[in-house]
Parts: sequence; structure tokens; C-alpha cells
Amino acid sequence: MNCPYCLTELQDQALVCKVCSRDVSLIRTMTSKIAQLEKELEAGIPAYEDRIALLEGRLEKYQKEKEAARGLTSNLIDLGIYLVIPLLLLLAAHSLVVVVYDTKLVYLRIISIILPFPFGYFLFKTRARILFPWFLAALFLAIASVIGMSAIVSLVDKTPIWPQNALEWKETLEFAASIAFSFLTGMLVGGMSYASLHRPKNITLSPFLKKILKLLGEEEISRKNLPRLIKKISDYGGIAITVGTTAVSIYTGLKDFL
Ligand SMILES: [Zn+2]
Repeated sequence: MNCPYCLTELQDQALVCKVCSRDVSLIRTMTSKIAQLEKELEAGIPAYEDRIALLEGRLEKYQKEKEAARGLTSNLIDLGIYLVIPLLLLLAAHSLVVVVYDTKLVYLRIISIILPFPFGYFLFKTRARILFPWFLAALFLAIASVIGMSAIVSLVDKTPIWPQNALEWKETLEFAASIAFSFLTGMLVGGMSYASLHRPKNITLSPFLKKILKLLGEEEISRKNLPRLIKKISDYGGIAITVGTTAVSIYTGLKDFL
């Protein structure tokens, strides 16, 4: 080390600077003490990080177990709040638009895109949830909604429940798809919002979700790439709806000739 007063290089063990004759013993002791502490700290950090990761893993496992152990009652309450209420609202909106006012279907389309979103959002924002059952629930909501809508129309107009031609199939499928995508997008955004409040670094993605991310050209879910991710998903969703409904239109249009 160098003398802190005149910057002359000191010899090892020297307690006094030979150039400026000042006492350097205290500085020397402190410097070596600091160096030692730095070394200990450096060695300690990985150990602490391991410890934190271990505790976080335990916490996550505990939360999952707690989630799995939440009784039947609370699961039924969740189903009521997050599935039955949006289903009833969608059916009510449909009745108002189609049966009571007999007005443009475009309002119904807008409602089916907007209404399910907040339910999916709050469902996943409020608690760590298991993805797959709620994915199925979103599909159920979509299918139950369109069947319910057809049933109401069929009751009022005495028409058959099932779609009768390509246009009706297309409309039905588009309704179902927009309801499901709206709810799923809500789930995704809500889940990300939950994760960003609970150390986003530590989300463990299921292999299924990892594959989807890879297909979308993303490595992980973070607050930074979230807006881009949502846009990609809705783009692909739009493409999927278009391809699906076009296929069905072509099939129903051609099936009489096949
Ligand atoms: Zn000196």
C-alpha cells in the first residue's frame, strides 16, 4: 500500500512512513480489516442468495399447497363470482341487445370482448392460481354463453338451438372465441400483475407455458416485455379466430356438395 499522506510506497509491516515520518499503523490495520470484510462479504453473498432462493421456493410450495387445500366451498364461491356472474351478464346483455331491442349485433360483439376481461383479471390478480383448470373454465364460459344465447333466441323465436348455416356458425364461433380470449387475456394480465407484486424473478413457468413463450419468440415473462407479449397473443388469437371461422364457413358452405 501507499502512504495516505505523501503517496510513497510503504514497505510491508512499516508502521511509520519513511518519507513524511507520519504514523500509518492505524490506516494499515483498517485497510487490512476492510479487505478482509470485503472478502468475507463476497464469499457470503452467493450463500445468502441460495438461502433466499430456498426460502422463496418453500413459500411458493406452501402457497400452492394452501391453494390446493382451499376447500370445495371457496372453489365454488370462486366459480360463482368469476364464471356464473359473467355468464349471467353476457346472457342478460344478449337478451337486451337481440331480444328486447333487436338492435345491431356489433354491440353484442363489443360486450363479449370487454365484459369477460375484468373477471379473468381479478381472478388472477388476487391470488396465485393454478392455470390449467381456469383455462378450461374460460372455454366453459365461452361455450356456455353461446349455447345459452342460442337457447334464449330459440325460446323466443321458436328457432333451432344449433346454428343452421355458415353465417350462423361463424357468428357463434366468433362470439365463443372473443369471450374466451377476453377472459384469458384478463387472466394473463392479472397473473402478471400478481407476479410483479410478488418478485417477478421467481415465477416458475409450467413446461406448457414455456413452449408457448418460445413459440412467441420470448424467453420469459417480465414487466418489460409484457405489453409486447399481450399484443402478440391477441394478434395470434385474432389469426386463430379468423382461420377457424373461415374453415367452418367453407365447410358449412360446401358440405352439401361434398
Ligand atoms: Zn508518507
